[in-house]
Amino acid sequence: MALLKLVLPKINVSGIRSRGIASLSALSETHQMLQKTCRDFADAELKPIAAQVDKEHLYPKEQIKKMGDLGLMAVAVSEEYGGTGLDYLAYSIAMEEISRGCASAGVIMSVNNSLYIGPVDKFGNKAQKEKYIKPFATGDRVGCFALSEPGNGSDAGAASTTAKESDGGYILNGTKSWITNGFESEAAVVLATTDKSQKHKGISAFVIPKPIAGLELGKKEDKLGIRGSSTCLLIFEDCKVPKECLLGKPGEGFKIAMMTLDAGRIGIASQALGIAQASLEVAVEYASKRLAFGKPLTKLQTIQNKLAEMSLQLESARLLTWRAAWLKDNHKPYTKEAAMAKLAASEAATLLSHQCIQILGGMGYVSDMPAERHYRDARITEIYEGTSEIQKLVIAGNLLKEMGL
Ligand SMILES: Cc1cc2nc3c(=O)[nH]c(=O)nc-3n(C[C@H](O)[C@H](O)[C@H](O)COP(=O)(O)OP(=O)(O)OC[C@H]3O[C@@H](n4cnc5c(N)ncnc54)[C@H](O)[C@@H]3O)c2cc1C
Repeated sequence: MALLKLVLPKINVSGIRSRGIASLSALSETHQMLQKTCRDFADAELKPIAAQVDKEHLYPKEQIKKMGDLGLMAVAVSEEYGGTGLDYLAYSIAMEEISRGCASAGVIMSVNNSLYIGPVDKFGNKAQKEKYIKPFATGDRVGCFALSEPGNGSDAGAASTTAKESDGGYILNGTKSWITNGFESEAAVVLATTDKSQKHKGISAFVIPKPIAGLELGKKEDKLGIRGSSTCLLIFEDCKVPKECLLGKPGEGFKIAMMTLDAGRIGIASQALGIAQASLEVAVEYASKRLAFGKPLTKLQTIQNKLAEMSLQLESARLLTWRAAWLKDNHKPYTKEAAMAKLAASEAATLLSHQCIQILGGMGYVSDMPAERHYRDARITEIYEGTSEIQKLVIAGNLLKEMGL
């Protein structure tokens, strides 16, 4: 399989600007080639294993390595640090296609790209980038991001995990919860409080190697969906890390986490688009073959109404997602737009996978068909990297600010 970075022409950003991003055919040649490469890969390598990955809670190690070979594990990172050197729109397109094939592979890719490598790339020094990006861009290793805690998820500023300065390093104590890639990851970006008196301004970010003395893993969570990705607690008990693990400056952690989530939400929106697209395809294919009252379901107006609504939700959400990616690529503010994209795409994934089951009738409800898996996979996109309720707070907060209130 050829590497994307060798095959794809460089992206000409000014070309993208003049073309607009209303449809795939309006995208640059690079983005179109990327979409085709990822779709072919997902059809050949991910779709055939997705049901087994889900059923057996199987981490798709071999496929993640192949995704690394394709350049998909560090899409928007410069080639200097082993990345593919593409933009965030490219990342969004790739993420959708991978998730269309297997949503578990999608979240593993998303966490590695945007939650783990993202902050190291933006806030790390040269030595940190060499150590914590290069080996994680190949698919041989993955990273994780540890913000949530048992006592606080949405209220991320209330972190109770501490990092105390000691002997020229830091000692971490506390528990991080729900950590995707928790089992397989060989490094973690961790948020911990270095100065409690400063509240969220006293949180700092660290990038630490795994395994490391003083860090234990909790049990693997038994989840509703995305069951090929591992989720577990990270339990720090007197875990000593050198001062070189500090990412950015002391007290910058909350800002780093929020900026990381802004970008991450474009990834999760794209994951949701992939699940929604897969649901639409299953529904249309089934409806075109299944006969009811002497004709295919696709001839029934009620079914056509459903397909129209599904298509509308999907394409609206895709445009919002591409807009957020485009704003990020063009160095414009995109916090509100990323929250809108995630909210719309996750709701679209839930609606489309729900309607997909409805169109399949009884066949939608059994695991012989992928519809019920898409339904279960879709649900998480409304929860992680900020619940839908939190996205609405972000959207309203930014809207009011824009309107001078
Ligand atoms: C499978 C999975 C993978 C995950 N991966 C990671 C990961 O890799 N790293 C990581 O750090 N975290 C991860 N998370 C955690 C995830 O981001 C949190 O679960 C999420 O942010 C919600 O936090 P919570 O579960 O504590 O819910 P809570 O914050 O307790 O919220 C419960 C409910 O209250 C609502 N609510 C809370 N505050 C408000 C408010 N101010 N206004 C209105 N409604 C509100 C929420 O929307 C929700 O409906 C993962 C979670 C899951 C399930």
